[in-house]
Amino acid sequence: MRAAMRIVAYGTLFLVVTCCTIFWTRFTGGLAFVWLGTAIASALFLALPRAQHFRAAAFLTMMSTVATSLFGFGPVWAFPLALINVFEAWFIAWLLVRIRPERDYIESERGIVWLGLLAGVVGPFAAAIPGGLLVTQIVGGSAQFHTFSWLVGHGLGTLLVMPLALLLTSYREPLVMRVREVGKVFSFSAVVLLTLAISACALLQSTLPSLFLPIVPLVLASYHFGRFGASITVLIITAFSAVTLGLDVGVFAELHLELWQKVLFVQFYLSVLLLISFPMAVALKQRQRFMQELVNREAMQRLIADHSDDALLHLDESGTIRFASPASTRLSGHNAVEGRHLAAFFGTFDRKIVVDALALAARCPGQTEIIERSVERGGQTRWLEAKLRAIEPARKQAPTFVVTIRDVTERKLAEIQISREARTDVLTGLPNRRALLGVLEEQLEFADERPFGFALIDLDHFKAINDSHGHAVGDKVLQQVAGIMRDSASDDCFFARIGGEEFGLVAVGSAVDNMAIICERLRLAILRNVMTDNDGGHFNVTASIGIARISERCSSSMAMQAADGPLYSAKAAGRNCLRFAQHMGHFVPADTNDLPASPLRAIR
Ligand code: GH3
Ligand code: MG
Ligand code: MG
Repeated sequence: MRAAMRIVAYGTLFLVVTCCTIFWTRFTGGLAFVWLGTAIASALFLALPRAQHFRAAAFLTMMSTVATSLFGFGPVWAFPLALINVFEAWFIAWLLVRIRPERDYIESERGIVWLGLLAGVVGPFAAAIPGGLLVTQIVGGSAQFHTFSWLVGHGLGTLLVMPLALLLTSYREPLVMRVREVGKVFSFSAVVLLTLAISACALLQSTLPSLFLPIVPLVLASYHFGRFGASITVLIITAFSAVTLGLDVGVFAELHLELWQKVLFVQFYLSVLLLISFPMAVALKQRQRFMQELVNREAMQRLIADHSDDALLHLDESGTIRFASPASTRLSGHNAVEGRHLAAFFGTFDRKIVVDALALAARCPGQTEIIERSVERGGQTRWLEAKLRAIEPARKQAPTFVVTIRDVTERKLAEIQISREARTDVLTGLPNRRALLGVLEEQLEFADERPFGFALIDLDHFKAINDSHGHAVGDKVLQQVAGIMRDSASDDCFFARIGGEEFGLVAVGSAVDNMAIICERLRLAILRNVMTDNDGGHFNVTASIGIARISERCSSSMAMQAADGPLYSAKAAGRNCLRFAQHMGHFVPADTNDLPASPLRAIR
C-alpha cells in the first residue's frame, strides 16, 4: 500500500514537472531543454523494492505519454518517447544499485562521484541515442543535434535535481521539522535571506560578470546546514535564474546566445554550483559522524578504564607511559606511573624482557606480545601478565603502544600446583620419574662440559618384605626411605622415585666427585633405619646402588643403562653394596666415621 502511494505521488509529481518543462522549454519545437523528470523517476525506482518496478514503470510511462500528448509531439509519438524516458530513469537506478550497492550516493564522496557519473552522463547517454533518432524521425533536422540536446538537457537536469530528490526520499520526517529540530531556524532564515539578496544582486544586474557571487551563501549554507542547506540554496538560485531567463533580464539577458543555448548554459552553471557545494556538505557530514563515533568510543573506553581491575595503558614510542587507568596504582605499586617506563611494573631484572617485547611488538603492529613475570608487592609474590600491541603509525613515525596489565596470580599458582603435582610421586612425595627425566635431560645437554653423576638405588628383596609384612608396611618402608633421601637432597643432589622400589639420584657440582661418599652414606642410613611391622616387630631393609659418571652427551635411556649395569653387579655381588660403572674405577668403601659432615641441605 505504501509502495502504491509512493508510485502515485511520485508519478503525479513527474507528470506536473514534465508538463512544465515541456511547455516552457521546447524552444526549437523539438525536445525540451530542461528535463527534470528523470531524476524524480530514478529516485522512485531507488526507493521501491524490485517487485514494484514494473508497476512504477507502467504508471510513469502513462504519465509521460500524457505529458507529451498534451504539450509535446502529440499522441502518436508520445508512447515510444515515454518508453525511452522511463527506460532512462530505470537504467540509472539499476546502474546505481548495481555499481554502488552501498547506496551512499549522497552520503559519501565516492557515492557522489558515482551519482554524477551514472545519473549525469552514462544513463542520459544510453537514452540520448534512441531518443535523438526518434526525434529526428518526428521533426526532422540533424540527429546529432537532437542527440546532443537530449544528452545535455537530461544530463544536467538529472544532475541538478537528483541529490535533492534522494534527500527527500531518505527523510522520514518533514523537512521543516528537521530544521526546527536542529534549533537553527533563525540562522537558517538568515542564510536564506542572504542567498536571496546575493542572488538578486548577482543575477538581476548586467554590468559586471558576477555569477561567482552566489557561491558565498552556498558555501555558508553547506557548511552550517549540510546537504539540506546546499540543496535549498541551489534551488533558490535556480528559481532566480529561471525568472531572469523567463523575463529576459539581468546577467543572462546580456549573453549573445539563443534561448535554448542560454538554458543549457544556466543548467551547466547550476550543476557546477551543486558540484561545488554538495560534496563539501557530504564530507562534513561524514566528519561529523566520525567525530561522534570517536566521542562514543572515548566514553566507552573511559568507562572500561575507570572500572576495570586491569591496568590499561597507552605508551609513547619509547615505552614511556602517557596514559594509565586507575588500576595501575595497585598493580604497579607506584602512586603515579605516567612518565615512567612500562618496566616500572616489573622487577629490575625484567627490564630487558620488557624492552625486547616492545621492540618485537613495534616490528609487527597489530600482533599481541605477552609478558608474564612474578613481582614483589607488599611482601607478597604476585604474577603480572602484560599484553602489548603497537598501534600502526600514521606516516613514517615510530609506533606507540597500548597495553593491558592483569594480576594473574591465582591462575599462575594453580598452574604451578598442577605442574608440581604432575612431577611428584603420590606415595612418597619425592619427585617422580617424569621430574627425574627432566633433570636428566637438562644435565645431558651440557654433559660434555659438565659431567654429572647418576645412581640407581634399588631396595633388596622388597617383594619378600611385602609378602611377609603386607603391602601397607611395604608402602611405609618406601616412605621412610624417601624421607632419608629427602634429608640428603640439596641443590647438588636430586633424588626421585623412578617406580616400585627403585630410586634415582642425579648429582652435580661438587657432589659429582663425592658420589661414592654420598651413596655409601645413603646405603648406611637405609640399613640403620629400623622399621616396625604390624605386630610391633622390628626389621631392616637394605639397598643396592649402581653408580655412573656421565661425561658425554647421550640419551636419557642410555644414562639409565649406564647405572643399571653396576646395579645389576651390586645385586649379583650379594646386595647391600655399591658398584660403579666400569670406567669410574673401583670404589673402596670408606669407614663412615671418616666421612665429612654432610654438606647437604634439605630442600623440602
Ligand atoms: P631385588 O632384590 O632383586 O630387587 O628383589 P625385589 O623383590 O626387590 O625386586 P622385584 O622387582 O622382584 O620386586 C619388586 C616388588 O616391589 C614387587 C612389587 O610388588 C613391589 N612394589 C612395587 N611398587 C610397590 C608399591 O608402591 N608399594 C609396595 N608395597 N610394593 C611395591
Ligand atoms: Mg628390589
Ligand atoms: Mg627393582
